Amino acid sequence: MSALVAEMSNKALKLNIPLSVQLDLTYRCNERCIHCYLDHHDHGEMTTAELKIFSIKWRRPVFFYLTISGGEILMRRDFFEILEHARLRTFCIKLKTNGI
Ligand code: SF4
Repeated sequence: MSALVAEMSNKALKLNIPLSVQLDLTYRCNERCIHCYLDHHDHGEMTTAELKIFSIKWRRPVFFYLTISGGEILMRRDFFEILEHARLRTFCIKLKTNGI
């Protein structure tokens, strides 16, 4: 662990906030990888409005990393709207996509 990550971890512990949060936007995907743990059935998704309300509650960054994953995140037509909204409230965003 680098000194910077150790310092961030200590600060998060002192502030009693998570260092990292993962948000899975969808079960949908345009691939069917043999190693995938998702069943790809429609279990429902949070709406754009629900996701915005969720991130508005953060008001200011309350964790260092947000990982946005799925399913395939680019299957959502509102993906860039969600990303822009989250970016205003989060220090660092990681995106997990198959890039197809
Ligand atoms: S790209 Fe990812 S989410 Fe899609 S089937 Fe493959 S492992 Fe699963």
